Amino acid sequence: MDKKVLEYDVAILGGGPAGLSAGVYAARAALKCAVIDITMFGGQPSNYADIENYLGFPEIGGFELSEKFEEHFNKFGAEKYPMQEIISVNLISNPKIIETKEYIFKSKTIILAMGAGPKKLGIPGEKEYTGRGVSYCAVCDGAFYKDKEVAVIGGGNTAVEEGIYLTRFAKKVYIIHRRDTFRADKILVKRAQENPKIEFIYDTIPLEIHGSAAAAQTGIGGDKVNGIVLKNVKTDEVTKLNIDGVFPFIGVIPNTELVNGQIKQDGYGFILTDERMAASEAGVFAAGDIRTTPLRQVITAVSDGAVSASYAAKYIEENALSTIS
Ligand SMILES: Cc1cc2nc3c(=O)[nH]c(=O)nc-3n(C[C@H](O)[C@H](O)[C@H](O)COP(=O)(O)OP(=O)(O)OC[C@H]3O[C@@H](n4cnc5c(N)ncnc54)[C@H](O)[C@@H]3O)c2cc1C
Repeated sequence: MDKKVLEYDVAILGGGPAGLSAGVYAARAALKCAVIDITMFGGQPSNYADIENYLGFPEIGGFELSEKFEEHFNKFGAEKYPMQEIISVNLISNPKIIETKEYIFKSKTIILAMGAGPKKLGIPGEKEYTGRGVSYCAVCDGAFYKDKEVAVIGGGNTAVEEGIYLTRFAKKVYIIHRRDTFRADKILVKRAQENPKIEFIYDTIPLEIHGSAAAAQTGIGGDKVNGIVLKNVKTDEVTKLNIDGVFPFIGVIPNTELVNGQIKQDGYGFILTDERMAASEAGVFAAGDIRTTPLRQVITAVSDGAVSASYAAKYIEENALSTIS
């Protein structure tokens, strides 16, 4: 079956906060715009509990905020393509080309807003027990740990916030941090320190996650994580902590698999942009968590989306590319 060819002024890859914001700005600039996602729209906020630092909403559920973003986006007529299996992306050609299982999108400009995913610990047991005691999403899996003991790994905002969230279910949450000072906001650290269910373990890194070897090898059975081996980086002392779950929140890696090598990226793979969100290839922009930026938050992703779409519009104008009506 021939694929349907669709033409746009702006194609946005990723329907998270950055992509949806870019879609609102592009559509309001009267550009023909498509937002394409491999899953449903909403991005990372769809998967966590509450946000307290998005201006205008002192406290709102992550999923609820995502829904509001999508409702707002729907109002201005950008087209939506959720659940797309993306085969390839060509950032070098003009027009830019995105090929999915069903469509070929040709677009004058492209905004990369595919966000980022959790960074892995890279220790034995992590891969084997993912889904059986190792989880990267407290909201998705926290309820499985009712009255159990879990370990959160990390010292940033996400680790501390998710640690606090897990106390809704778990009877004990260890927050294991490789230093004795935090990157996380002071207000969050104070809240965690005052929570009687949370115990901090400082200057410590995880070495290995333990559980049932049989389950790890066969992939079947109900066996799960039962402990984590830790090392104090100051004393080199190695200890084992008996726990039922491990939640690593040690940072993010960019979802750039489709575009690696086509544009300039930093040493971690994040896309390098200028202040207009323009990437190294003409007509290509990047917004949100996927780009090199000092702060990865919803509010900065939304701001990046606005800037990227505004400059995609300017790029079309300056290069005298007629828009698609
Ligand atoms: C547990 C947790 C708690 C957090 N708490 C807060 C908080 O309290 N406050 C705050 O401001 N921020 C918080 N953040 C960070 C915030 O969620 C991100 O900074 C923000 O979601 C970035 O938005 P984005 O649009 O750049 O990327 P994302 O939200 O990651 O969205 C990217 C979208 O792109 C899609 N996608 C991925 N790969 C592809 C592909 N190849 N092709 C097409 N689409 C693709 C994804 O499905 C997703 O919909 C938290 C993050 C986590 C993980």
